[in-house]
Amino acid sequence: MKLICIGRNYTEHIEELENEKPKDPVVFLKPDTAILLKKQPFFIPDFSDEVHHEVEVLVKINRVGKHIDKKFAHKYYNEIGLGIDFTARDLQSQLKAKGLPWEKAKAFDGAAVVGNWLPKTEFENVDEIEFSLKKNETVVQKGNTSHMLWKIDELIEYVSKYFTLKIGDIIFTGTPAGVGKVVANDTLKGYIGNHQLFSITVK
Ligand code: ZN
Repeated sequence: MKLICIGRNYTEHIEELENEKPKDPVVFLKPDTAILLKKQPFFIPDFSDEVHHEVEVLVKINRVGKHIDKKFAHKYYNEIGLGIDFTARDLQSQLKAKGLPWEKAKAFDGAAVVGNWLPKTEFENVDEIEFSLKKNETVVQKGNTSHMLWKIDELIEYVSKYFTLKIGDIIFTGTPAGVGKVVANDTLKGYIGNHQLFSITVK
């Protein structure tokens, strides 16, 4: 399975990183080895002094598809989750400056937190999902999928032009503002509404 990640999908986060607003979604992949194993702490890798949390709504694909029209995209998932796209920001900035791929900064072991899943039926509208991240009991990121530049079904249409979607693939839909550095002993808890979907410790 693969993790398909979207960058720059929330305006305020684009502004905070001083990125340009894209014409098309920014897309990158993480391998399955990036998934942080359940109940394991996140270890800050020794090649970075600035790992940031990016909390993101996740979509789990449940049918094989290619060239999916956004009208039919809703048939390709029935679970919504929450996760973290950990990013070695110092390394990513160096790679970006040189125009090089981001994988070393984004796809390393443990860089993808995948929390528990909620049935899609739990939501009246997937384009109005409220989510948040608490660091050490303080809310540091808060978002609503209504603020996405590309909505979930549009993202499925877009990414399936390039990649065949397979059962179990996960889409990371981008992060809202409030990304920040993690340090050893931080605790990160993710919520959709009142449901806590993950809790992890940083080492
Ligand atoms: Zn991200």
